[in-house]
Amino acid sequence: MTDFKNQSIYITGGASGIGRAVVDTFANEGAFITILDKSVKGLEEIKADLGDRVQCISGDVTAYEDHEKAVSAAVKAYGKLDVFIANAGVFDGFAKFETVTSAAMNAAYDMLMNINVKGYFNGARASVEELRKTRGNMIFTVSGAGFYPDGGGVWYTASKHAQIGLMRQLAFELAPEIRVNAVAPGGTLTALNVIPPLKPFVKEVDNDTKAKSIKTRNPLQIAMDSEDHIGPYLLLASKKSRAITGEVIASDGGLSVRGL
Ligand code: NAD
Repeated sequence: MTDFKNQSIYITGGASGIGRAVVDTFANEGAFITILDKSVKGLEEIKADLGDRVQCISGDVTAYEDHEKAVSAAVKAYGKLDVFIANAGVFDGFAKFETVTSAAMNAAYDMLMNINVKGYFNGARASVEELRKTRGNMIFTVSGAGFYPDGGGVWYTASKHAQIGLMRQLAFELAPEIRVNAVAPGGTLTALNVIPPLKPFVKEVDNDTKAKSIKTRNPLQIAMDSEDHIGPYLLLASKKSRAITGEVIASDGGLSVRGL
């Protein structure tokens, strides 16, 4: 596939997990990638692995100016922006609504919604002008929790529903120049962090237990790795998909066909 040769891609949360797999894949396809992430260590590793294919911006998705910095850097280095991938996210650890104190509930709301929802608003707004110039596209990493209960607690589930709403409204408003779509991974073995305000209310789960639980929840019985999701990103980002906008591709082992 040569669809992505010299394409300029901006991704948030590309230093780990699903984002890292997406970065590796697009770099391998010949794209240049600008990554915004708060993990300095993760960014150093990726730079050491991928060299000139990537430029790394250390920052926070909740700060609009960090996205502006990343978009300017992408345009300065690669002359344009073709794709924006909103991906950085945090988790609530399945914290149960009623067991969390009202103070922690509020702190968790502010932190998780800021990162998962405002982070996507910010990245989309900062990218829109450059994407219009290239008739580019946006892809949001959402989740099975954007459709179903029990993919997280109320904070995570509400944030993932909000991301899908944002994606649909943007697909409507930004047509015909910019396509906006989403990928909805199911439970995946990554380091997805539980936010500090909810840590006292959740149990730490080791990877084996997590893998077992994910397998029993989806019909294909897969404990997914980050690399299992890259197909839909390649498909949606490609100019060969010019008729697709406002869609969510589920990559979740078949959650919609679990049956009664
Ligand atoms: P991950 O922790 O491996 O990767 C998330 C990345 O986002 C990390 O590199 C982290 O440093 C970065 N990040 C977090 N907060 C940030 C901030 N404020 N500013 C900048 N960077 C920040 O987790 P992952 O599972 O790969 O998560 C990626 C996306 O996939 C998230 O949107 C998550 O909700 C979604 N997702 C994950 C799963 C799963 O089971 N792991 C399932 C469905 C969807």
